Amino acid sequence: MNRREVVSISGKKGAFQNVMDALSQIDLTPIQGKSVLIKPNIGRAASIGKGYNTHPDAIAAVIESMKNAGASHIAIGESPLVGIDTMEAFKKGGVTDVAEKYGVGLIDFDAHKPIKKDIENGRVLSSTLICSPIYEYDILVSVPVAKTHMHTGVTLGIKNMKGCLYNHEKVRYHQVEYMDKEYPEKTLDSAISDLASILLPDMTVIDGYIGMEGLGPSGGEAIHSDFCVASWHPMGADIYGCLLMGLNPADIPHLRLISERLEMPFEPEAYEVRPADFRKFVVPYRVPPTNISLEFDNVQIYDKESCSACLSTLMLFLKRFKDDMSQYLLHDGKFHIAIGKGVTDAEEGTIFVGNCTRLNKEKGIYVKGCPPVPTRIYEAITGREPDENEPEVQ
Ligand code: SF4
Repeated sequence: MNRREVVSISGKKGAFQNVMDALSQIDLTPIQGKSVLIKPNIGRAASIGKGYNTHPDAIAAVIESMKNAGASHIAIGESPLVGIDTMEAFKKGGVTDVAEKYGVGLIDFDAHKPIKKDIENGRVLSSTLICSPIYEYDILVSVPVAKTHMHTGVTLGIKNMKGCLYNHEKVRYHQVEYMDKEYPEKTLDSAISDLASILLPDMTVIDGYIGMEGLGPSGGEAIHSDFCVASWHPMGADIYGCLLMGLNPADIPHLRLISERLEMPFEPEAYEVRPADFRKFVVPYRVPPTNISLEFDNVQIYDKESCSACLSTLMLFLKRFKDDMSQYLLHDGKFHIAIGKGVTDAEEGTIFVGNCTRLNKEKGIYVKGCPPVPTRIYEAITGREPDENEPEVQ
């Protein structure tokens, strides 16, 4: 069993100690003298402990472990959802405080000129724009928070690499088409596998302290699952991440696809898991619904080729304002709302959210923005600002 095939798991000790314990069970000698870039999942400017973002204590533990292992230099970098200010997201998510405490730098990936990388044998992409700081460090550590995802099943260490794409390049992954022939997988899953063919984390540390279940990655519920998975092997980490969430890795198309294309072992038994009785840390996550409309009474959602930013806006809008929309129901007694470039079948009177839906704007109320914020949708529908005393859903 070589170093890359070890998957280390810990749990029930909180965000910081879980990570410290998991990393203590794997060989960190390759860190000695190397520069390390930590890529958490800080997609939104969201409060700590809601399951949106990697917990700052988990990031602190990664830094401490890397320092103890002799890293020469450490930084934290991110390119969040389009429309989100990276530094504001770091601050609200507690990452700025951690960086200051440990004296490590914060990098807004989008503030640097991207590098165009060719993708050989891509299914949907022949090249892609990657944030250049990725290539300035010896070791890239993916530190995702464990979440279910309505478009991709889960978002873990490999999917977290999408946050290394430059700014709007992330959006393109939701709108691509097959180039040469059709494949059974969704184009987004193929796009993630195209990316994986040129960019994978060197190490993965999955923060499962407070994850997100159900309508992830933005509209789900926080779940206190209190585990951590660490491995040098990107597939091994994500497979065990799924198992700890009570999910079957075979049900996650992008993982299955990447394992086939990159010839990575897909059976859990192919990895050495520590401890062997890791199942004591399993906390089942509620899977994302196949039809999101069913999650909201009296709401018809049209979602085709949207990216995670508009999906996030939509979920936040519905959570905060759905009950105020009773006078905007259509003939079927439902509130109709649409996101994504591919929506063509929405009813007259639908609310069209985001620039991608602009071709439909004669059919209903159009809310421009990429993405618009939830309060902007409320204003466009009602003609007035929301009550400021009402708390944001975060
Ligand atoms: S309008 Fe929405 S779905 Fe379209 S690119 Fe912008 S954020 Fe993504």
